[in-house]
Amino acid sequence: MGNIITQSPFLMFSDGKGGIYEDETLYTVGRSGWDAFPIPTDEFILLPEGGQLYELPGRRGIGIDVATGEMRICEKGWAVAAFIPPAHTGLYIAAYETMPDAPTLPLFCYTAAGWQDDKIYVPAVRIEKDIRQETEGYHDAEIEVGTEHLLEAYPNNRLIKHLMENCCMTYTCPAARNLALGRWECPVPISPACNANCIGCISFQPSDETIVSTQDRLTFKPTAEEIVEFTVPHLETAPFPIISYGQGCEGEPLLMWETIRESIIEIRKHTQKGSININTNGSMPKAVKALCEAGLTSIRVSTNSAREEIYTSYYRPNNYHFNDIIESLKVANEMGAWTSINYFVFPGMTDSVAEYEALRKLIKETNLKMIQWRNFNIDPDWYLGKIGVTDTGECMGVKQMLELIQEEFPDLKFGYFNPSIERIKGDFEMDYAH
Ligand code: SF4
Repeated sequence: MGNIITQSPFLMFSDGKGGIYEDETLYTVGRSGWDAFPIPTDEFILLPEGGQLYELPGRRGIGIDVATGEMRICEKGWAVAAFIPPAHTGLYIAAYETMPDAPTLPLFCYTAAGWQDDKIYVPAVRIEKDIRQETEGYHDAEIEVGTEHLLEAYPNNRLIKHLMENCCMTYTCPAARNLALGRWECPVPISPACNANCIGCISFQPSDETIVSTQDRLTFKPTAEEIVEFTVPHLETAPFPIISYGQGCEGEPLLMWETIRESIIEIRKHTQKGSININTNGSMPKAVKALCEAGLTSIRVSTNSAREEIYTSYYRPNNYHFNDIIESLKVANEMGAWTSINYFVFPGMTDSVAEYEALRKLIKETNLKMIQWRNFNIDPDWYLGKIGVTDTGECMGVKQMLELIQEEFPDLKFGYFNPSIERIKGDFEMDYAH
């Protein structure tokens, strides 16, 4: 077990020119909320394949001085953080001091990272077995062939054009690339509009904001025919097939619920295979009910918090309330659908005692089936500042929170992706490997 460490790894810094180095005078610490803390050594894992390091401009890393044991700033260069790939949940954010005039960081995750014996370590857990977005499973030549094939097979389908030319080939979206490869979860973006104004929305940011959205939002409303045309063959032929409305490049799919309902009814006339899922903000319980009646298999509701005040200050909903998302989960559960939350993990907020209590309540109230523990892709200072949180309260550590929730709710599943029908109905712990 050469990858278990007994001493905290060294802090890394960037020279501002693309070079990243270790500082052997400082041990890595992690940020939780606004503050820096030592990271228990047993919470470090090797940076998984597909992970990357980022330089954080205008920020100085914080570490523990190897000689004195005191916390201090690294003056040698800019702070460094890690992007940890899908299927992994970060336990601490990178700790740094932000200089005046530092630019707001773009919408990525900034997990702490350290260096030891030529290896990079991050405080994280693998929360999901599914290999659906593993980098080694993507081969460009095969993806290109699959893309060409879909564009030729559906020449008049605007959604296929969007998914292949924009999502797959321009943004290298892992979900769209899996569609090109004819496997697993197939993305179905459907709505150009939204009824929330999330601070960290990845598909729309106002032009006067200090960050840009990472993806361009869908600009048209697909028809039910366009959806049915390529999703039926996917459900029929892909391994462990899922079709999923509600993607990162669109608004809120429930605003298009009538089209979704029409497409589900039509799809199920042609095939009973696979699973039909929606990723949503859960704002319209009546629409959720109608979709479940039509044959929706699963729903995943995104949230940054189980507390209304934290949710509302981030989502800034137009015409719905936090209680509607609870209601949507309840309705879906009552209708027999699989219910997940897409839970944006922010160390120091998610593991606060107040959040833990609110999450327990949500799980009990909705009979939740699964939590997808996602990393919150956002500049930490910017997020806490925008939602007006100056003190995140008492925290227990993300690892401890995961353990406590699992202990209290042994049937609640943990993961990172929407499960296939084979997992929902059969063995949830099944190994996917093709
Ligand atoms: S619900 Fe989704 S699409 Fe709507 S503002 Fe929030 S992140 Fe953006």
